[in-house]
Amino acid sequence: MTAFIYPATPHQRKHGPRGYVDYSSFRPWLRDEFSFSCIYCLIREQWGRVTGDFDIDHFIPQATDPNLTTDYDNLVLSCARCNQVKLSQHVPDPLTALTVHHLQIQPDGSLECYSREAESLVLKLDLNSPEMISWRLLWIRIIELARENDTDLLNQLMGFPTNLPNLGRLRPPGGNSRPEGIANCYFSQSERGELPAVF
Ligand SMILES: [Zn+2]
Repeated sequence: MTAFIYPATPHQRKHGPRGYVDYSSFRPWLRDEFSFSCIYCLIREQWGRVTGDFDIDHFIPQATDPNLTTDYDNLVLSCARCNQVKLSQHVPDPLTALTVHHLQIQPDGSLECYSREAESLVLKLDLNSPEMISWRLLWIRIIELARENDTDLLNQLMGFPTNLPNLGRLRPPGGNSRPEGIANCYFSQSERGELPAVF
């Protein structure tokens, strides 16, 4: 476990809520879907002051296709910083392009890209700026220190938030195209005592 690691495989959507007229209603689903982390830069809710206060990014910008504004499969969980940098840019799909086969974080905090898609995303999201590199180094160091000296702090920073959304209680107006995901949501795992201390 390190502070930053992109997924090993492309992200397969677990959930499929439908029919909310306000896209912010998808927030609990997206928090669980993307493990309480920004899909672009990997910052975690647990590293900020207010958990659950991330933005919802429209992969295809709302201005490009308003019909996708409330399409769950067009929504990703993003930190405010990345959402504001992306704005209405068209970018490669982060669900497939942001995996360890496409890019990895180096010990100096920079991102090394192995594909054009990842290069494009890093450029458009400005993920290799000096500020982002020094921010990554800071968190790599914080997590290392916590691991060496303070297990409680490590569990707080690398564990799950306490306000896990209970997705099984939600009733999307248009149903759920992937109902099998409910049993694997983090709240359900927690209820079964299966939630790992850190992730
Ligand atoms: Zn971000």
